Amino acid sequence: MSDADVIVLGGGVTGLTTAIVLAERGARVRVWAKELAAWTTSAVAGALIWPYHIEPADLVAAWAVRSLREYQGLVHNPAAGVRLVTGVQADTAPDFLPTWTAALDGARPATPAELPDGYTRGLRATVPLLDMRLHLDYLMRRLAAAGGTIEERAVAGFGAAARMAPVIVNCTGLGSRTLVPDPAVRPVRGQVVVVENPGLTEWFAHAGDQLTYVLPRPGYVILGGTSQPGSWDLSPDPAIARTIVARCARIHPALATARVLEHRVGLRPARSSVRVEREKLDGALLVHNYGHGGAGVTVAWGCAEAAAALI
Ligand SMILES: Cc1cc2nc3c(=O)[nH]c(=O)nc-3n(C[C@H](O)[C@H](O)[C@H](O)COP(=O)(O)OP(=O)(O)OC[C@H]3O[C@@H](n4cnc5c(N)ncnc54)[C@H](O)[C@@H]3O)c2cc1C
Repeated sequence: MSDADVIVLGGGVTGLTTAIVLAERGARVRVWAKELAAWTTSAVAGALIWPYHIEPADLVAAWAVRSLREYQGLVHNPAAGVRLVTGVQADTAPDFLPTWTAALDGARPATPAELPDGYTRGLRATVPLLDMRLHLDYLMRRLAAAGGTIEERAVAGFGAAARMAPVIVNCTGLGSRTLVPDPAVRPVRGQVVVVENPGLTEWFAHAGDQLTYVLPRPGYVILGGTSQPGSWDLSPDPAIARTIVARCARIHPALATARVLEHRVGLRPARSSVRVEREKLDGALLVHNYGHGGAGVTVAWGCAEAAAALI
């Protein structure tokens, strides 16, 4: 056996938050990740903290509220990359996930003046909006401060980890499709365009047939998006990028001519229901925490604690 109590597989937001929860409780934790944080799906996330439609809804609401509190507590640490930003989720009523809506101070129906043309209703709220590159760096530093380590290492099964530690936590996202194997995990491709910020301060999102979101940060805006189930294509499609910019420019015309800084693509690890479960594995304990689809950042801390509670 090694000097590790737990091996966490996966170095995205799920793996890092799970590793932090365990390490801050005193466990000796090692993270093994095929790709380090900057190259994960987590690094591509628009990172608006909002519990999009993932299941199981009742647990998701609780996980999201727990995570919301963590993000609110990080707002005063500039290195964490978390800001509270006001905006509108179109076509969403105040009774959307009541536990979640109630947790947002001041969430209310948007007035007609607060809605872009063509929209009749929306929920206006102030929520955390993360800069994922800063935030993932922050998570890695926080894990290191708690004594955890991260290694770039891919696994083809759980055996090697089980020989190194009595507990393994599987946070491999889409990788679980082949690793577990769990064919219920499927990619949902998301493409975004990053442009210079022409002066926007509020976010806008609409999760309808055509996903549309405008997520401003100081200096840049993430424009989205796509939701393409079953697509494994990681290269940005220029035609799709043009339609994204055109849709977002209908919300804010200044975006039509904003300078493009970058194109990004990520594959959301979708599943009919998030899997936070435990199973026995040749004398070791295997805990799963994967399948968070388009809301993995939103539920990360709640899921991390739920996974830790299974150990
Ligand atoms: C365009 C886009 C926009 C998004 N916007 C939002 C948003 O606004 N809000 C929100 O909450 N969520 C959003 N998401 C969803 C969010 O990004 C994901 O739910 C989340 O990043 C999943 O995190 P994860 O750590 O589970 O998976 P990942 O970030 O994919 O990390 C998986 C880790 O497992 C590792 N791994 C895989 N297989 C193996 C293996 N065999 N051995 C070792 N390691 C392995 C990988 O290398 C990686 O380190 C968005 C996603 C996309 C693509």
